[in-house]
Amino acid sequence: MSIAQPETCASPAHVGEEMYRLVAELYPICRSITGQGVRETLRILQRHIPLITREVPSGTRVFDWTVPKEWNIRDAYVRNARGERVIDFRASNLHVVSYSIPVRRRMPLDELRSHLFTLPEHPDWIPYRTSYYAEDWGFCLRHTQLADLEDGEYDVVIDASLEDGTLTYGECCLPGRTRDEVLVSTHTCHPSLCNDNLSGIALATFLAQALARRRDLRYSYRFLFVPGTIGAITWLSLNEERTARIAHGLVVSCVGDPGKFTYKRSRRGDAEIDRAAAEVLRRAASDYEIIDFTPYGYDERQYCSPGFNLPVGCLSRTPHGRFPQYHTSADDLGFVTREALAESLAVALAIVDVLEGNDRYVNTQPKCEPQLGRRGLYRRVGGDADLGSLQMAMLWVLNLSDGRHSLLDIAERSGMAFGLIHDAAATLREHGLLQQRHGEADPLPSSGGRGG
Ligand code: ZN
Repeated sequence: MSIAQPETCASPAHVGEEMYRLVAELYPICRSITGQGVRETLRILQRHIPLITREVPSGTRVFDWTVPKEWNIRDAYVRNARGERVIDFRASNLHVVSYSIPVRRRMPLDELRSHLFTLPEHPDWIPYRTSYYAEDWGFCLRHTQLADLEDGEYDVVIDASLEDGTLTYGECCLPGRTRDEVLVSTHTCHPSLCNDNLSGIALATFLAQALARRRDLRYSYRFLFVPGTIGAITWLSLNEERTARIAHGLVVSCVGDPGKFTYKRSRRGDAEIDRAAAEVLRRAASDYEIIDFTPYGYDERQYCSPGFNLPVGCLSRTPHGRFPQYHTSADDLGFVTREALAESLAVALAIVDVLEGNDRYVNTQPKCEPQLGRRGLYRRVGGDADLGSLQMAMLWVLNLSDGRHSLLDIAERSGMAFGLIHDAAATLREHGLLQQRHGEADPLPSSGGRGG
């Protein structure tokens, strides 16, 4: 099938530009797993989609975890004896280890050294480090900067606060014809890093925007913008009763680099989302990889934990940890491209299209083939070696539509594109040769509104 054009705009170039602009706007903000940076980020997303924000107090127990104190930072630096800021948070928010406790001290370089982190193999890149669950502090810097530090005393200031507050996450719910939900989740906790994970935030935002414009969604959609790990755990803990409604799910991250696509299967391994993603990538991407579930990575780890075992896969391009720029200052605005962002959105939309269109039918004329020619559905002149792909697709759909096979089953078994199988089914339905098998859906009550 050809990849559907995103409905947000006229062309992939245009939507790629819009996605890139959002990434660029969010890039300077200092995000962490809690704090004002996340709130500011979600406020910007609210200009694009109907996003509701939730605040969960520090200290809330969420399964085996506790919502941490809220971290906020105003300024941080290391200043030499001449009064020069040799490491400056204002130049890059990566310079401060995320969740550093407040510090205001003078110390010799030897003592400071144990709090400094560099990447000797990439001496011009600043690493990204966090210290969420151990109260500590530190600075990250270019290895070349470290080499230039002279012996002597330094003023070390981290003007931050780590206090009781809240954890903030965003939720965008789009109602469909059924209560069954598609979950799309992305993490929001990284500071100035583009592929991991502003690209995921941009994809989820523009996917939600495109789906919000559709009039007749089969599924309801829930987009979660949560801090990594603790945010997904918090949502699952507070929404445990909703999880039975999740029919399909996708975590998105690292979707802005020009590398090939990677789809990581759900823990189940054969969920419909796993098969839909494989079908789309088979048709759409010249090069891609499908990998099995592992209990590491992004928030699919939580959604696929054994107590939930939800059908949630993960869509990336080059996966985390497999590009050298990962978790460094080189994951910047030059690393992600408009083309890659637009293509990733198109793949996500095509996966949604498979889920939305994966109906099951019953052939109304199952005893021998129905006479297609009489209905204008079959080539008039016989004897051609090539039957024509739409006609071939109709034969497959008629043969396998026994109420047990979905259109995705038929696409897989025939080796034909899902879009073609779907078109064939639509044509046959128009001619009364197929009936939809009911019972797929748990419809929403006619009163309409549904809670977030
Ligand atoms: Zn990361």
